[in-house]
Amino acid sequence: MNKFVYLFKEGRADMKALLGGKGANLAEMTNIGLPVPPGMTITTEACTEYYRLGRKLPEGLMDEIKRNLSVVEQQAEKKFGDLKNPLLVSVRSGAMFSMPGMMDTILNLGLNEDTVQSVAKNTGNLRFAYDAYRRFIQMFSDVVLEIPKYEFEDILHRQKDVQGVKYDQELTPESLRKIIDSYKELVQAKTSNVFPENPLDQLAMAIEAVFRSWNNDRAIVYRNLNKIDHDLGTAVNIQSMVFGNMGNDSGTGVAFTRNPSTGENLLYGEFLTNAQGEDVVAGIRTPRPIAQLNDEMPVLYTEFSRIARLLESHYKNMQDIEFTIERGRLYILQTRNGKRTAQASVRVAFEMAQEGLITKQQALLLVEPSQLDQLLHRQIDSNATLNVAAKGLPASPGAASGEVVFDADEAERMDKAGKKVLLVRTETTPDDIHGIVAAQGILTSRGGMTSHAAVVARGMGKPCVCGCEAIRIDYAKQEFNIGTIVIKKGELVSIDGSTGRVILGEVPMKDPEISKEYTSLLGWADEFKRLGIRANADTPEDAKKAREFGAIGIGLVRTEHMFMQQDRLPYVQQMILAETLEDRQKALAHLLPMQEGDFYGILQAMEGFPVTIRLLDPPLHEFLPSLEELLVETTELRITEKNPKLLEEKLMLLKKVRALHEFNPMLGHRGCRLGITFPEIYEMQMQAIFNAAARLTKEGYKVLPEVEIPLTIDVNEMKFFREKIEVIAATTMKAANVTFHYSIGTMIEMPRAALLAEELAEFCDFFSFGTNDLTQTTLGFSRDDAEGKFLPHYLERKILKENPFVAIDQKGVGKLMRIAVEGGRKVRPGLEIGICGEHGGEPSSVRFCHEIGLNFVSCSPYRVPLARLAAAQAAISDSENIGTR
Ligand code: PEP
Ligand code: MG
Repeated sequence: MNKFVYLFKEGRADMKALLGGKGANLAEMTNIGLPVPPGMTITTEACTEYYRLGRKLPEGLMDEIKRNLSVVEQQAEKKFGDLKNPLLVSVRSGAMFSMPGMMDTILNLGLNEDTVQSVAKNTGNLRFAYDAYRRFIQMFSDVVLEIPKYEFEDILHRQKDVQGVKYDQELTPESLRKIIDSYKELVQAKTSNVFPENPLDQLAMAIEAVFRSWNNDRAIVYRNLNKIDHDLGTAVNIQSMVFGNMGNDSGTGVAFTRNPSTGENLLYGEFLTNAQGEDVVAGIRTPRPIAQLNDEMPVLYTEFSRIARLLESHYKNMQDIEFTIERGRLYILQTRNGKRTAQASVRVAFEMAQEGLITKQQALLLVEPSQLDQLLHRQIDSNATLNVAAKGLPASPGAASGEVVFDADEAERMDKAGKKVLLVRTETTPDDIHGIVAAQGILTSRGGMTSHAAVVARGMGKPCVCGCEAIRIDYAKQEFNIGTIVIKKGELVSIDGSTGRVILGEVPMKDPEISKEYTSLLGWADEFKRLGIRANADTPEDAKKAREFGAIGIGLVRTEHMFMQQDRLPYVQQMILAETLEDRQKALAHLLPMQEGDFYGILQAMEGFPVTIRLLDPPLHEFLPSLEELLVETTELRITEKNPKLLEEKLMLLKKVRALHEFNPMLGHRGCRLGITFPEIYEMQMQAIFNAAARLTKEGYKVLPEVEIPLTIDVNEMKFFREKIEVIAATTMKAANVTFHYSIGTMIEMPRAALLAEELAEFCDFFSFGTNDLTQTTLGFSRDDAEGKFLPHYLERKILKENPFVAIDQKGVGKLMRIAVEGGRKVRPGLEIGICGEHGGEPSSVRFCHEIGLNFVSCSPYRVPLARLAAAQAAISDSENIGTR
């Protein structure tokens, strides 16, 4: 026969599948010598057997329990159902995976009319005994007999009214006695049976109820949501009860082994004497700081401190411990890894390694990479009371307060006038860039985590809340509303880009603090990671920031951002509108020195490190006014007849905009297709790169420019561009009489490029995965439409597990990436391969890039620290050896 019952001392932490998470943990604590109230665990196998038998307890199970119970009785020095010193137990479910609140718990089992009197006598406290009894009847009736809770609550409330008191604690023993009698009458009326008096019957019924609760509706829904197998079954833990409310030498409390907000290595928590856990939660009595336990019960405090240390070194993590003191004896009820702030997380990991409790590798694994992001931004002061009005997506971390504006030009004007503004738009476009620069933060009602606003804000390290559907913007009235609240232009609003909260009014903030622990921990990350971490940066300032955060190069300079600047745009438009090559070259001649200046600044800021400069990528119409705008303007000019010359110019523009109109610009005339049709544009950019490189080399700087071609699909494109690049590089070096190293490569962002990587590699020194476009084109999802429209439904219905624009779709997009890596390296074993899509700063994607052997990931400067840690974690988990102290 199977062994269905394990005493706590027979189990281990790695027996979660059989004993459930809670059972395995209780066993582990028992075995390291902690004072855990004795008990036993009925295995998950007993539960599956119960279902296999058609909902019947397996034969012999109760006998096995009785045998083990006698051991527990000896350990507890109490006896089940005993009239002198009765043992009371708790009966709790505990599956392999934690399912908080999904199944049921019964406390104080073993009480009946006789034992309740013994408990009263032994404790000298009839009130306590009756209160425990009425709680037991209530829980048992709810869980086992399935009588709704509220019927018991009604009785309780009625009795409080009769006695004229507000809180349960104020009920007298007489009132509690009446409540018990009424409870029992209710049970009799509902079940036509008396409430079970025999403790062993109570136990068998309770165990069966826990098994049944595995298949209650909420547990099934929870398992479906969390993809937990329905066949696992739950274990049942039977544990002797201990009471913290047996007098002033008893108490209960919760403590963290270190401070969970700051990470300081000091016990942190609270306790209450003569109380049960519920009293702490109920908030009627204020618990006291754990340090005061030292004044009251110094021996127990020392003992608890010792145990806290022991648990920390055993679990190699900061612990959150629940304890109870029953008549001067300390019991540990539970321990788990403690939740902590980002700041605490870093400090705890660093100090635990310094103290020799864990290795550097283990320390690195203790910190959640996404937490690092928060530390680089201003945060809302956690003591502030907030008037939260809505919630959107936490698109870019940090907090900001400002006067609401609805238009980028206005944002810029107000910023110049010294005001702090918050830019509020349905969504943003490249046209709004100056407004984003001017604003403290951005709030949009539409768009997802990779919408324009989100990507740009993250790149700049500005707070952003996106897709906040609760806000309705009325541009005409210059206001927005959240339900009935109306917020007008100029009113103060705050956003928290780390949580997505939109808050009315201004809020107090805390500046980011880069601690020495943070810097040291990231230094350790660099020792272990294999991936290089670069940044996506378009300006010398961003490049400097990226270096400060530890980037070792730029993985993507998007040159189009430079074309958008106000001093260039007229020449860019002139270039687009040119009808002849000659006219176009005139415009390009203006742009050349400007671009050269841009590249000079960036290459200088990144001295000694590689800088990948991508040639122009977006469709040209993005640099022109919109069709709608021009239609309105030309109509007005026609009606007023005031300015025929301007009308003529605008009509020309309109004609060009119409000519450039595309049904699907993302798949249209963009990327290197522009370089094929207008080679002079790309040639100007190539020339600008090499002029800058030559000047810097002359001035004694070491530069490493990498010229990158976007959106290629065929080797012949690469061949065409490579020849041009090589000619321009050679002539520039010769003319300037210098030499410098440069390389040529392509983005891999179209499935055809990935599939034909083997051919492309012949003309490439490097590849960089543009996973934004590669995701769009592999899934056939237009990013902006998908996130706003159908993608949320896909995620809700679990058709897709994750937003593929946030975390790499490893199955599909990832497969193409693997093909490209393999193909490319087959032809060129030393081919440098990286990623520069938004995924380059997302931890699970970084891990994937490590696994498929990329050389680098590139992300926005503010995500560089996070990527360094994620890359180290990938390398550490990979190597199995997480070191010895
Ligand atoms: C990409 O497609 O992943 C990429 C980096 O290019 P962009 O986002 O500029 O299209
Ligand atoms: Mg792209």
